Amino acid sequence: MLFSQDIGIDLGTANTLICVKHKGIVIREPSVVAVAVGSGQQKVVAVGEEAKNMIGRTPGSITAVRPIKDGVIADYQMTADMLRRFIKKAMSSSPLARARVMICIPSGITEVERKAVHDAAISAGARYVSLIEEPMAAAIGAGIDVSAPKGSMVVDIGGGTTEVAVISLGDIVCSRSIRTAGDMFDDAIVSYIRKKYSVLIGERTAEEIKISIGSAAKYDGEGALDIKGRNLLDGLPKNVEVSSEDVREALSDPLSQIIETVRSTLEKTPPELASDIMDSGIVLTGGGALLRGIDRLISAKTGMPAKLAEEPLDCVVTGTAICLEKNTLNISKKKK
Ligand code: ADP
Ligand code: MG
Repeated sequence: MLFSQDIGIDLGTANTLICVKHKGIVIREPSVVAVAVGSGQQKVVAVGEEAKNMIGRTPGSITAVRPIKDGVIADYQMTADMLRRFIKKAMSSSPLARARVMICIPSGITEVERKAVHDAAISAGARYVSLIEEPMAAAIGAGIDVSAPKGSMVVDIGGGTTEVAVISLGDIVCSRSIRTAGDMFDDAIVSYIRKKYSVLIGERTAEEIKISIGSAAKYDGEGALDIKGRNLLDGLPKNVEVSSEDVREALSDPLSQIIETVRSTLEKTPPELASDIMDSGIVLTGGGALLRGIDRLISAKTGMPAKLAEEPLDCVVTGTAICLEKNTLNISKKKK
């Protein structure tokens, strides 16, 4: 008889994380696929870290693709290919096992999109698939007691989407999702630098700027970064000095969209639950929440306390791991 292995997957727009029951997180890789385009056919040559490192360093016939956009599968075949390789790697110590998979999906997706995630996991070799809503997994992974008769709010700021949800009694009471998150921060930095300095930089440089000196609110030890880009006036390389203040100004637009979403979700929240959130505070998860001072900004703009979860990048997959350990994996063979 085949034996099964339970695994949890956070299929994010930026990163895919996989945990194996009793083992913890075994895969933590960018959701990137490198494809070779030859004779009109696309062939996946690498996934994850390896694929990301190929960007800009490979012959023209290989391109890097992110198969998940805005939280949903943009390229079904590539997502399934990527998942298959990750699952295989995650289960390398028990190659004969068939995986029972719990996989996270954004709360706002349609039935068709749910089915696409489910089918991608099945075609990647999973035997059974169960789906869990991402904000629920994020909340569990952040240590929130989701089954309590008490309102909690979790704001997950990923690469492609920000998900805001209020949870009580094991259910999502209200939620909103917007397509503004970490990637949009990078885009905003690119266009700010283009406008202010007439210099073009790439997305990866923008991400580096964001991580090294970016912030949502003033912080001690602000700095500046010397960066290289292309002068739009003469096409030649040019150095510019970008300050923390520049980055804050660049990010003000996407940040206000996130705050607006938090506020409008709070407005829809029943008053008793809102007062619970006032007591316990808004919990922030996802890589985008690592932006310095974002907790202080959200707190100042909503009047509610806000705090960063421990290991924000891991909350979603940790949530699935906790469900797997507790055996709350509600697996049915044909669950959509
Ligand atoms: P997803 O769930 O969509 O895969 P993640 O939760 O993995 O996204 O977060 C990825 C985002 O977090 C990226 O936009 C990345 O630039 C951003 N990020 C990661 N670390 C930091 C950091 N230290 N400061 C600011 N942003 C960060
Ligand atoms: Mg995520």
